[in-house]
Amino acid sequence: MKIRFLGTAAGGGAPQWNCGCRVCEAARDADVSRTQDGLAVSGDGDAWYLVNASPDLRTQLLANPELRPPAGTRDVPIRGVLFTSAELDHTLGLLGVREAAELDIYATAWVHEALTTAFPLQAVLSGYTRVRRHAVRDGEPVELAGGLRVTATVLSAKQPRYASALAAGDSVCAYRFDADGRSFVYAPGLAAWSPEFEKMIAGADVVALDGTFFTEDEMGATRPASSMGHLAARDQLPLIEAHPGPWYLFTHLNNTNPLVLPDAPELADVTAAGAAVAADGLLLEL
Ligand SMILES: [Zn+2]
Repeated sequence: MKIRFLGTAAGGGAPQWNCGCRVCEAARDADVSRTQDGLAVSGDGDAWYLVNASPDLRTQLLANPELRPPAGTRDVPIRGVLFTSAELDHTLGLLGVREAAELDIYATAWVHEALTTAFPLQAVLSGYTRVRRHAVRDGEPVELAGGLRVTATVLSAKQPRYASALAAGDSVCAYRFDADGRSFVYAPGLAAWSPEFEKMIAGADVVALDGTFFTEDEMGATRPASSMGHLAARDQLPLIEAHPGPWYLFTHLNNTNPLVLPDAPELADVTAAGAAVAADGLLLEL
């Protein structure tokens, strides 16, 4: 299995265009940039699946050679797109790849509903390309091309702000990918290490964790991380130490998270727990 980290920042990227916080200022000074969250995953190195489609998708596709079309063709090796949520930073990028011959979209029923009603992305795309919807259900494996199997675990009912009028449902999930006896878990919206999540990561080789915030009060006391559906990275470190086995990587970093910076003192705590921070362009081969 191959996993390419296309982007490793939360919504807005890092630095964020309108933010002058300490981390954004340091990132500008050091020319550090993280694009918005997404992955490409392949079981055989030929058939690839995107996981989330950020507004930076076009740049990310151009930057990674395995996702280019062979010379003289338009046959990009992307076989589908899986969404972990309907958040704008995870879905807007599809508008930028409407030139695709077809788009196979995998998501929970709630996410498909949000992308049909509150944000009618799929209807808009259908004017440009052939869209096929595939429902993923909690705990039910789906066989993908290239010997890849994916299983979703629903994590929370946190809804995007634009879809707050919809009834609550399976709006945030994580995915476990399995191929050739190796496994990889991707959980960029993790509110808690629930029993379901602990079951999902059992025996996994690599787990990409929600690194949106380093601390619970990073956005100020009025907007704690937990109120936005994120468990702070620092509060996950004891959980990582209590669940040895997989290699843990933080991704989906908000611009306020000091882990955005390669020389952050907070990295020492992460390393001591046996974890690391993902970088844009990181390629894992399991
Ligand atoms: Zn900032």
